[in-house]
Amino acid sequence: MTYLKGVGPQRAQALAAELSIRSFGDLLEHYPFRYIDRSMLYTPGQALPGPAEIQIQGQLSQVQSQGVGAKKRLTAQLVGPDGHIDLVWFKGIRWVEKSLQVGVQYVAFGRVTEFSGRKNMAHPELETLASFQQSPAQGLYPVYSTTEKLSSMGLHSRGLSKLVQALISDLPSQGQDWLPDALWRGAGWPTHLDALREMHFPKSPERLAAARARLAFEEIFLDQLVFAYKRRSYSAHRGGLVFSAVGSRFLAFYEEHLPFELTGAQKRVLKEIRKDTASGMHMNRLIQGDVGSGKTMVAFMALLMALDNGYQGCLMAPTEILAQQHFASLSEFAAALNVRIALLTGSVKASERKPILKDLASGELHLLVGTHALLEDPVQFKNLGLAIIDEQHRFGVAQRAKLRAKNDPAPHILVMTATPIPRTLAMSLYGDLDLSVIDELPPGRQAIQTVHRTDHNRLKVWGFLKEEIARGRQVYIVYPLIEESQKMDYKDLMDGYESICRDFPRPQYEISIVHGRMKAEDKAWEMGRFVRGETHLMVATTVIEVGVNVPNASVMVIENAERFGLSQLHQLRGRVGRGAEQSYCILMTGDKLSDDGKVRIETMVRSSDGFEIADVDLQLRGPGDVMGTRQSGMLDYKVANLGQDQKLIEWAREKARAIVESDPGLHSPEHAGLRLRFTDYARNKMAWGVIA
Ligand code: ADP
Ligand code: MG
Repeated sequence: MTYLKGVGPQRAQALAAELSIRSFGDLLEHYPFRYIDRSMLYTPGQALPGPAEIQIQGQLSQVQSQGVGAKKRLTAQLVGPDGHIDLVWFKGIRWVEKSLQVGVQYVAFGRVTEFSGRKNMAHPELETLASFQQSPAQGLYPVYSTTEKLSSMGLHSRGLSKLVQALISDLPSQGQDWLPDALWRGAGWPTHLDALREMHFPKSPERLAAARARLAFEEIFLDQLVFAYKRRSYSAHRGGLVFSAVGSRFLAFYEEHLPFELTGAQKRVLKEIRKDTASGMHMNRLIQGDVGSGKTMVAFMALLMALDNGYQGCLMAPTEILAQQHFASLSEFAAALNVRIALLTGSVKASERKPILKDLASGELHLLVGTHALLEDPVQFKNLGLAIIDEQHRFGVAQRAKLRAKNDPAPHILVMTATPIPRTLAMSLYGDLDLSVIDELPPGRQAIQTVHRTDHNRLKVWGFLKEEIARGRQVYIVYPLIEESQKMDYKDLMDGYESICRDFPRPQYEISIVHGRMKAEDKAWEMGRFVRGETHLMVATTVIEVGVNVPNASVMVIENAERFGLSQLHQLRGRVGRGAEQSYCILMTGDKLSDDGKVRIETMVRSSDGFEIADVDLQLRGPGDVMGTRQSGMLDYKVANLGQDQKLIEWAREKARAIVESDPGLHSPEHAGLRLRFTDYARNKMAWGVIA
């Protein structure tokens, strides 16, 4: 950075420390976070108090310092033909005072507030009118994020803008574009260099939008190219396993044992799986289906396809409870089919484990259900043909890779998630997977009635719970334990539990409790009592969030509901409404709600559509928080916005797949620039382990 005019060693060091700006490239990518219409220049009389930062022109007068010590401040006036406005500084007074030239025309930039009837602007950015008029920036004026420390060194937004300006004026007018022409011909985008210029000093909102689109596409495209290569690599060596036949077990089950008619969506997804597994390609498919959409049945029938072709299958779930439930469902489905199935979790004893592993290796065991215990090295299959992962968002890419390594050639992979992710987000996170959606619930399901109640209504709510219990139903009461370690949350839960025990006394009412501080076996025991209907109420934290199936539970009470994210609320609500009974979800909150909290509660009350809810969640929180990927640096785009850039993402994915298919080595001349850029990019990505 010291090679740039205006940057000495001190500023360079501060830029690196405060904003991680170490190179010209970093500075160019420090994009403005918003723009101000520079064409509007107000007089002091026109300027009105408000949240927007505006520019005011006037003559500087009456510079005075007032007060002493901590109360010391500097004031001045900007005078125009129609009035004046006070300028105030509380910091850096000596330095500012020296730089002010009384009687000169200035442009002050900042936010106008009103203070005892007088308009004023605190810590304005000041520039003489002469310098302002020379400035090449027209139209939209960039506003950069900066820090206190940098501002005190003159690198406030305006200062940064000057650095960028200096850098940009040194750029060559024409540069190499790494994005192949064919990809963006006709899009109306500027070249890469022009796009950079427009991002910082846009000539118009339209040109800014075009520049933004280009740079966003570049970011997205590189990621989609990584995905496209990953996808290709799965079957590159040996091809995919071929399930050529729809065999006897599948047909026997379909024709004689299916407990219900499959929904259209279930049939469609099974056809997609059938097509993949028969094609000679390696299947990597993500099935998204809202809670209760019947993913388990699809998983089971897909496993039958593997079995019918002489392969084994496995199903991995994120928790012990879920694995047990899957094992129970699959065992029931498999009962009449002469399928051997076993459960393997962390709590399976060594003595029981041994025969399982032996039969697995010899091929006598057909299906293995379990937790991440399946990933351990001693778990060796004879010929694993299909691996299914339920509730993907709890597992990482690494686990998928481990499953893939359990057979050579790699088994087909099916990932199932009940967290509906907006399509764009799914493509950006799981771009190497093909997407299937089960967008239809089994018929006859009654919509869950969702209501919002506050503490004032608690007596009534408790009365309602008692009525439901009297009718033979069971109830969940969930507390937020966002961080299982947080003492306050834990105390809330225990206080709540105690008062529930008082209000629902034994022996009339039996209560289960499950939370993250309990030992796994205690949790399983308490959960088991509730599943078997031995307890009426389940007081729990979000450990019950995923997948648990107790059809007799008809009421879900969520305490402090405003503290949960939307997707989590939707997941929790999905625990009820699994039987034929009318089910209810009661969202308890305090009286005061933040704006976001209000939107979340209203959305839950209004909608039961997981995809709609996920969309609102994405708008409210942004992708990093929704997917819990913020820490990992994934989806950390500088320009692209996954909520808005859906078209770009679809387009980038299509183009990336086409290029990898037609020119995998990127050897054609028009891909030369791309080859260089991508090699560099992929190498950086490897460093944080995205390429599994
Ligand atoms: P999820 O997609 O949340 O995993 P499940 O697979 O647990 O959903 O299915 C929820 C319930 O719906 C189960 O009790 C299951 O037996 C039932 N179910 C699944 N498919 C159908 C169908 N086509 N018709 C009727 N009931 C179904
Ligand atoms: Mg499920």
